Amino acid sequence: MDPKLTIENESIFRGIKVFGKSGYFDVTLSDGKFKSIVKSEKSKKGIIIPKLCDIHVHLDKTGTHKRINKKAKSLFEAIELMDKDKLIWSENDIYERANNAIQNAWENGTGFIRTHIDWIEEKTPIAWNVIKSLKKKWQDKVVIEMASLSPLDLLSLEGEKIGKIVSEDNSIFGAFVYRNENLQDKIKLVFEIANKFGLKLDFHVDEGLDKDANGIDYIIKYTKKFKMENRVLCSHACSLSIRDEKEAMEILEDASSAGIGLTCLPSTNLWLQDFSENRTPRFRGIAPIIEAKNLGIPVMIASDNCQDSFYPYGNHDLLSVFKLALISGHLDENNWFDSITHLPSEWMGFNNKIQEGSEASFLKFKQSSISEIITLSKNHFQIWEKGKLIRE
Ligand SMILES: [Zn+2]
Repeated sequence: MDPKLTIENESIFRGIKVFGKSGYFDVTLSDGKFKSIVKSEKSKKGIIIPKLCDIHVHLDKTGTHKRINKKAKSLFEAIELMDKDKLIWSENDIYERANNAIQNAWENGTGFIRTHIDWIEEKTPIAWNVIKSLKKKWQDKVVIEMASLSPLDLLSLEGEKIGKIVSEDNSIFGAFVYRNENLQDKIKLVFEIANKFGLKLDFHVDEGLDKDANGIDYIIKYTKKFKMENRVLCSHACSLSIRDEKEAMEILEDASSAGIGLTCLPSTNLWLQDFSENRTPRFRGIAPIIEAKNLGIPVMIASDNCQDSFYPYGNHDLLSVFKLALISGHLDENNWFDSITHLPSEWMGFNNKIQEGSEASFLKFKQSSISEIITLSKNHFQIWEKGKLIRE
């Protein structure tokens, strides 16, 4: 039901569901905020959910697949293809592709994004400043957080200089970690730099199916040592899916006590892991996320790559990525919906909960449950921002 305008600047929905609460409610918006949320005698007038939070994307790489026009057969081939494409990156090219991606994300219901930006030599990448300008342009609709993404080996040489700039831009310090030599020392150094500049960390770690990919073990060790609870996010951790079961569970218990977060990126993992031509993949590279969640680890689900050499499809449609996670991980849609809403936004430092007094920015569906939303082949919903209907 469309909201009934009662007095100026005030809207009321009657008999709607509110994600996270049971029953039906009358919800009043006033001055851009949720004024009241009270039990209703009416029912089945739709559901409102928070704006979605996509905590792991790559806005610098997105939209390049068309011209690369080749499908990678492994993570490392995808990196090679991307490196070739980078030779033609310009400010305009990055701006167009990233802006288009943010527009798509917004249309698909996303209100918060953390984007990784490749930082592969000492000097600041062009994309860093381009996305900084897009962050400003979109600030009223989509909150964008930037994270540097450097090869771990580069950080052992230039980490301090990069960390300083990342800190000045109030951004996240990130590394790609995969079976590097002197792994422990290099990870320790990243934590020392983070500690010096007060940086939060985000690792692409163990994105592969080698049992000896154990970067996460050291990340946990130093998260504890540097007391960085709730400041270190690990993405992928695919090797936990094939490491010895008992060992993997001990690592997750340790990760939980260290206060580490885990991001699951189903589309890229399903696409790139265990690829072999003319053979169906057996190992799917999804970390044991149910066990992680049961141990109290904040597990988040995100888009990762879209339309680039790592994953040629996708459109920053987080609900469709969530659906893929439900299927690939046998997840329950209600228990896991916070993995694309509250958990990542809290991790980024924002509250997007629907509660009295909070900013009235949300999505409204005609359907009355998460299950019905997920069932749709194409989602249609209203976008409300600060108490105003922005898109029908
Ligand atoms: Zn990624």
